[in-house]
Amino acid sequence: MIKKILFTFLIALSFSNAQNDSSIVSLKTIDSTIIQDVRYATTNNFTGKVLYPSAIVFLRKVVADSLSKANKYFLEKYNYRIKIFDGFRPLHIQKLMWQIMPDERYVANPTKGSRHNRGAAVDITLVDLNGNELDFGTQYDDFSEKASPNYLDFPNPILENRKLLKEVMNKFGFIQLDSEWWHFDFKDWKRFSIPVEDGID
Ligand SMILES: [Zn+2]
Repeated sequence: MIKKILFTFLIALSFSNAQNDSSIVSLKTIDSTIIQDVRYATTNNFTGKVLYPSAIVFLRKVVADSLSKANKYFLEKYNYRIKIFDGFRPLHIQKLMWQIMPDERYVANPTKGSRHNRGAAVDITLVDLNGNELDFGTQYDDFSEKASPNYLDFPNPILENRKLLKEVMNKFGFIQLDSEWWHFDFKDWKRFSIPVEDGID
């Protein structure tokens, strides 16, 4: 129930007129051509549990704008589109994930918080015009060394896909995590604090 209220609050926020570049917005209002596949709103995630009551991706406005620019670039130059798995992640969800996977290589410790909790990180992949995901060597949320961008024991097409994703995202202000090829922090993530969740453990 409390989680539902939080998401309702976020949806209301995203339609507020008084927006600036740090406002939390619904990504769809910025770019409806980015495919959304919010795995944490389904059981198809590493916890096997539905963690989000809503499959809407929220981000800081400047982060959503930058992601939209990257998406347009991928589309115009390569006929690819971005598919996003996760953006803003409420802190109480971070705590749940930490209970299930207390390993800082893959899940941020909630006492420090994740850049997702600030609305300044994205988990993404690329799809072709038919909606098929490109091969990046592992699935999203693969907790093995193969998920690292530094793991190089892959055939060339996979390494080229990884190189392209990283280069284009860098160009639009995103920095890749060195343990997950799909995770990118927005370069100015420190500007944004973690929203306080009163009454939510
Ligand atoms: Zn992530």
